[in-house]
Amino acid sequence: MKRIKIVDIFREAPLGQTVSVMGWVRTRRGNKNVQFVALNDGSTVRNLQIVFDLNEFNEEQLKAVTTGSAIHVDGVLVESMGKGQSFEVQAKSLEVFGTADPAEYPLQKKGHTLEFLREKAHLRPRTATFGAILRIRSTLAFAIHKFFQERGFFYLNTPLITASDCEGAGAMFQVTTLPLDKLPLTEDGAVDYSKDFFGKPTALTVSGQLEGELGATALGAIYTFGPTFRAENSNTPRHLSEFWMIEPEVSFFDITDNMQLAEDFVKFCIGYALDNCRDDIEFLAEHFDKELVERLEFVLHNEFVRLSYTEGIEILRNSGRKFEFPVEWGVDLQSEHERYLVEEHFRKPVILTDYPRDIKAFYMKQNDDGRTVRAMDVLFPKIGEIIGGSEREADYDKLMARIEEMGIPMKDMWWYLDTRRFGTVPHSGFGLGFERLVLFVTGMTNIRDVIPFPRTPNNAEF
Ligand code: ATP
Ligand code: MN
Repeated sequence: MKRIKIVDIFREAPLGQTVSVMGWVRTRRGNKNVQFVALNDGSTVRNLQIVFDLNEFNEEQLKAVTTGSAIHVDGVLVESMGKGQSFEVQAKSLEVFGTADPAEYPLQKKGHTLEFLREKAHLRPRTATFGAILRIRSTLAFAIHKFFQERGFFYLNTPLITASDCEGAGAMFQVTTLPLDKLPLTEDGAVDYSKDFFGKPTALTVSGQLEGELGATALGAIYTFGPTFRAENSNTPRHLSEFWMIEPEVSFFDITDNMQLAEDFVKFCIGYALDNCRDDIEFLAEHFDKELVERLEFVLHNEFVRLSYTEGIEILRNSGRKFEFPVEWGVDLQSEHERYLVEEHFRKPVILTDYPRDIKAFYMKQNDDGRTVRAMDVLFPKIGEIIGGSEREADYDKLMARIEEMGIPMKDMWWYLDTRRFGTVPHSGFGLGFERLVLFVTGMTNIRDVIPFPRTPNNAEF
């Protein structure tokens, strides 16, 4: 008989029919007449109740049916008398695929803390919580492609191994095949990278943007969606060493177009998750964050506030609030500042623009005031910065001047500069940290809980 997924049982409710279900046992309980198993197959957060009549099955047969074991049951789907579920399967046959020794299985009990489950990252997808998070993550990934594809953006794959370390977005992980215990040296004692795999120093990318600009100035509108690596030793609930980033880049787009795209984009993703992951979101709301659905709908139905960095600084300085990091014009905003603006002052998502040039990357379009650039950060409740982007400096001479001023090694940049030498156009783009979006939509508070296998300093076990 063909297997039916539990999600389809709930969707189609084929009452009276014999069904074949397979999954992992969440719990087993009951008495000497009847045993109830809560079965989950990962297709939905909901468990299917299986009823074993002990006239037809004996305890010996059911002994292997313990929490974590994998089973196959054929039986009739009937309406349930019990509370908590509308129907159940009356088991006719049982096959045990794999046992899970109760003395050994780490997820034996319910209600483990998220911290405990991080130590068991290889098994935590089997919990209701992580099942929900991972399904939401998958749905959001699909929504991202859907949003851009429906708007004529092309998906561009940018390299993960790069030879340019000038992006400045973060510290990099070096990539090498040189023997670290016996490095080849040049005559003056430096590492001889001409002997390395690529004949030069290389590293894992911190952003696909520079290559994204090559795509945008050819295809018009592109987006990237891939892994990104940052070797900063920052242990925060919002930073990973390996995370996924979505970076649209669009020709003939100014900063205002860019802001609108960012707002439409995150709203689309949130709306898509609400429409397609309702069960999972409600499960997480019930267990972790009572205001989750309300917050998601609030963001969906309100316009983001747009203001300049300079105005933002004024608000922070006049707030009467004592921040851990003092505020003055020119400082990079900390999460506490971003969250004050979003959560306490405006109570809405905020797009801050026109940051001081000295705290932003070289490629951002310079404003006429000579001290700010056309940057934009989207700030979200509970998260802080979720998107960072800008209009790009399209003028060759201005870009060159900035590169020289910042002392960026030119030999790495020639290919990028060709976008400005040949058919340069106004263009803009941004980067959305995928896990920050998943954090927001799931209501989780630690970024380690929204990626299946988190990479953080001192943590690459699973
Ligand atoms: P932050 O100030 O939060 O460290 P950033 O300004 O260094 O971020 P950008 O270089 O602007 O980040 O990257 C674009 C987006 O990528 C950010 O808005 C954020 O959503 C996400 N992001 C950046 N660094 C990380 C990280 N280490 N882990 C997860 N997401 C990140
Ligand atoms: Mn940023």
